[in-house]
Amino acid sequence: MSADRAARLRRLPAVDQVLREVGDRPETVAVPRPRLTALVRNVLDAERRRVLSGDAEPPDSAAVVERVLEQIGRQGAFSLRPVINATGVVLHTNLGRAPLSALALERMTSVAEGYSNLELDLASKERGSRYAHVEELLRRLTGAEDALVVNNNAAAVLLALETLAHGKEVVVSRGELIEIGGEFRIPDIMLRSGAVLREVGTTNRTHLKDYEGALGPDTGLLLKVHTSNYRVVGFTADVPSRELVALGHDRGLPVMEDLGSGCLIDLRRWGFPYEPTVQEVVAAGVDLVSFSGDKLLGGPQAGIVVGRRELVGRLKKNPWNRALRIDKLTLAALEATLYAYDAGRALETVPTLQLLTEPLVAVRRRAQRLLARLGPDLKRRLSAEVIEDRGQVGGGALPTVELPTAAVALGASAAAARGLDEALRRGNPPAIGRLSDDRLVLDCRTVLPAQVNALAAAIAAAAAATPG
Ligand SMILES: *Cc1c(COP(=O)(O)O)cnc(C)c1O
Repeated sequence: MSADRAARLRRLPAVDQVLREVGDRPETVAVPRPRLTALVRNVLDAERRRVLSGDAEPPDSAAVVERVLEQIGRQGAFSLRPVINATGVVLHTNLGRAPLSALALERMTSVAEGYSNLELDLASKERGSRYAHVEELLRRLTGAEDALVVNNNAAAVLLALETLAHGKEVVVSRGELIEIGGEFRIPDIMLRSGAVLREVGTTNRTHLKDYEGALGPDTGLLLKVHTSNYRVVGFTADVPSRELVALGHDRGLPVMEDLGSGCLIDLRRWGFPYEPTVQEVVAAGVDLVSFSGDKLLGGPQAGIVVGRRELVGRLKKNPWNRALRIDKLTLAALEATLYAYDAGRALETVPTLQLLTEPLVAVRRRAQRLLARLGPDLKRRLSAEVIEDRGQVGGGALPTVELPTAAVALGASAAAARGLDEALRRGNPPAIGRLSDDRLVLDCRTVLPAQVNALAAAIAAAAAATPG
């Protein structure tokens, strides 16, 4: 480091001094002290990097105080906050999966700001069921006799296995013993539920006779699992739901299918490969079908189970269900999401479906709007341009699909791209892109139309905070 830079670094105000000054300001009264300290450190870290990377003069403590106040004003001092998803991954588990519809947000607010009839039957004044608020909708949309919702699909699978197969064998194809990110593995869930895994077939091929050969007095359930996040291609075979149902029912055994994403709309019209819808699996006679609320359905985090009344009833009565139950905010958002499907308005109002089905021309237009917002100087400095690329659905859904997409690529060198990537993640709001071929690629399929201006401003701020 040059002596000059070292001297300038020494002139940066100390954390304690800034904290004393900012702590006296009325805007920080409600901010917990440790959080305020972290904010001050963040701002000072950013200033230190700026000094180290160029000829910038260090700000005095009053300027640092202003910057801290600005952060509090814009995002509050909260840890969980909105980010701009420029990864192109529509269902990004680390970024909260499905963004909710306007109606879902409205329902959450109105139910949460006061009291609600969560478990009160208004007609009889008797205790009601929280599930009643979505049962009818789920029955109508899926054709199933009954429905139950729990915290997430992992909970739904655990609850179903514990209820139907504790101490019994569950027959599953070897090709379906999947691991989903975040510690969800079928064999582990099985063990924890008290069920005994009975693997049949091989990794790439499982036939009906494999299931048949495994059935015996200890069998409790036949389970089919959607291989959500990978595909076995080539010489493969699996047993269609309908055939599994015929076998199970012939032997008096229930059949369950963990559908993973659980789409209610056939997306082939928009160029996606065939995926069985929930309705189709129910119509095939599968006794219990489980799926997530926040994958292709586009709703809040939830696990949905639909199927035969008798079996769903047993799940509802299991004490485990009390521990895995869904809360009122989720129910409000889920009801609104299902309502949109029921009204035939899901494609226009559920953001996940809108983002997935948006034509490339519209995404490209958004990318061009973002580029134009940067202005000529910044465009030149960052070598910014609109490129065409391929994105992903994410969330363990449709793993082989590459969505045609448009993006703004930034960074004149690999180092510049990395610097911008980091500065954008630390920005306000943070923006997350992907580094590819020495460039920072900001995929506009997942940048919501209302976020374009904020992203342009974030890029300008990031450029100002990075060298080159
Ligand atoms: C995603 C997924 C799960 C887990 O669902 P969560 O809602 O994330 O708990 C379980 N099974 C399959 C097949 C999945 O794709």
